[in-house]
Amino acid sequence: MTDNAGGPLLPHPLPEHRLALLERITLVLHAITRPVRQWSGWKRISQWEALQAIRNSASLRAASYLAAVSMVLILVAGTIVAGQLRSSVFESRRSAILSDAALRFSSAQSVFDQSTASTPDQIQESTRQLATSLRVSAAGTGAVSVLLLRSPAQSQTLRINEIVDPSVQGVIGDDMRQAVAESSDPQWQSVSIPSAQDSSVRVPAILVGTKVQVPRAGTHQLYIVYSLQGDQERINTVMGILIFAGIPFLLLIPVITFMLIYHILGPVRRTAAAAGKLADGNLDVRIDASDTRGTDEMANLGRAFNNMAESLEKKIDEYDELARLQQRFVSDVSHELRTPLTTIRMAEEMIWDQRENFDPVTNRSAELLHEQVERFDSMLADLLEISRHDAQSVDLVAESVDLRSLVARVVEANSELAQRLGVEVIVESPHYRCPAEIDDRRIERVIRNLLVNAYEHAESKPVVVTIAANDSAVAVRVRDHGVGMCPATVERVFDRFFRADPARARTTGGTGLGLAISLEDVALHGGTLRAWGELGAGSSFMMTLPRKVGVAIDAEPLELWGQE
Ligand code: ADP
Repeated sequence: MTDNAGGPLLPHPLPEHRLALLERITLVLHAITRPVRQWSGWKRISQWEALQAIRNSASLRAASYLAAVSMVLILVAGTIVAGQLRSSVFESRRSAILSDAALRFSSAQSVFDQSTASTPDQIQESTRQLATSLRVSAAGTGAVSVLLLRSPAQSQTLRINEIVDPSVQGVIGDDMRQAVAESSDPQWQSVSIPSAQDSSVRVPAILVGTKVQVPRAGTHQLYIVYSLQGDQERINTVMGILIFAGIPFLLLIPVITFMLIYHILGPVRRTAAAAGKLADGNLDVRIDASDTRGTDEMANLGRAFNNMAESLEKKIDEYDELARLQQRFVSDVSHELRTPLTTIRMAEEMIWDQRENFDPVTNRSAELLHEQVERFDSMLADLLEISRHDAQSVDLVAESVDLRSLVARVVEANSELAQRLGVEVIVESPHYRCPAEIDDRRIERVIRNLLVNAYEHAESKPVVVTIAANDSAVAVRVRDHGVGMCPATVERVFDRFFRADPARARTTGGTGLGLAISLEDVALHGGTLRAWGELGAGSSFMMTLPRKVGVAIDAEPLELWGQE
């Protein structure tokens, strides 16, 4: 027996059955996932939040990856297993069917050969009986129909009625009929026929056909249709069991992976939390002993973190101690210098008062002595002030002051210096009051410092002082159009003892402590002091203070730079 005529005519396995299987799988998955889909919590968890959660959690990420990978693997493995199962079942059934058909065909031919029927009616009756007995005897192998069709090339004059079955008639195509007609061996073809239970559903079947010689009626084609419905149902059952067995795996793999990785990453999470606290200044934070025991990577991480935190804390303690020592040194030296300076100052004042009686050279010396003692005095005052800030022994004596009058007073007090330096001072003062709760002695010192700095660096160009207020803050901006500052100077201008150009001729001697003290004074009020400048275009210093002590600034009333 050969395979069907003209090569592979077999469209197996049949698409209708694949679809039926897929439909079943979808229904099962739908039913299983219904409680999850209907859980109201999903509505609260937006897609973005879910993505964020996956992005932020390595455990969740690994679980999702593994879920996706295992789903693909199970699908691929399932498809391969289903394919293998189907083709091996089909193969064994096909060979059983073909052997069965071969036997039936040869016995049918023997029956025809030995037939004694001579009249057309007798021949007709014998073929009908043969077909019936064939269908009954082959039913055990799955035969559902037996057909006896006239051979296309048949030329006998005696025509008997064909034995047909309308339900399967359509599956015998011209190519099959041609193949049977041309070959002396039985031919087979994989087909689909209506199901015995429901004619709208089609089931797989094998059609086998051969030529037979009907006495006096000539060559006919005998076909047997074997249904594979039972085999298809068995395959579906096996696939259903496989899917049911796979679903728990699909659900369990990500859950177990998540739990495992979450557990493994526990020390990393705790180390990250500890590092966060360390960054917030909590230097005595350490990883628990339970996370540092053992020799694995996690324990190494915990120990390395603890060592790092330990040495960091030690270093910072050392720096703190050093800074405290420096501050104490500055404070002690300044205090120690006060007494001799007072004596020097008294002596210098006596000399200063007598200078009229001195010759010009001694007079000049007296002037120089006076200048330097003044400078020494203010330097010491600055040092003592910064020491007080360091020791946090400064008090804020705040009262409501209109910033406009304070600025006017400072401008007036320093008008002689401005005049001497040829600087025109423009005060832009609003017509409304700008009151704020401030320690006017300190704020006056800040404004004086900003003004004197501006006059000194203005190169005789105008200095603009702008005052403004809003609901939460008052501000004073001092803008000059002189030498300006490079970015490096802007960055360091509030550092202690910083002077951009120490060699520069200074009208009033500065120590480089003025802006550092100003910054401390403004910070004491809860305000900000900011600076900006461009070389050749001038500098701008802006002080912003809250209107009420302890109330935060919502927005700055002025811009530091730009609008002129
Ligand atoms: P000093 O007592 O030397 O004035 P400050 O702390 O007041 O100290 O200023 C520090 C340095 O900042 C100054 O030496 C100067 O180089 C720079 N500086 C301050 N104000 C201005 C300004 N308006 N323009 C340019 N540079 C300035």
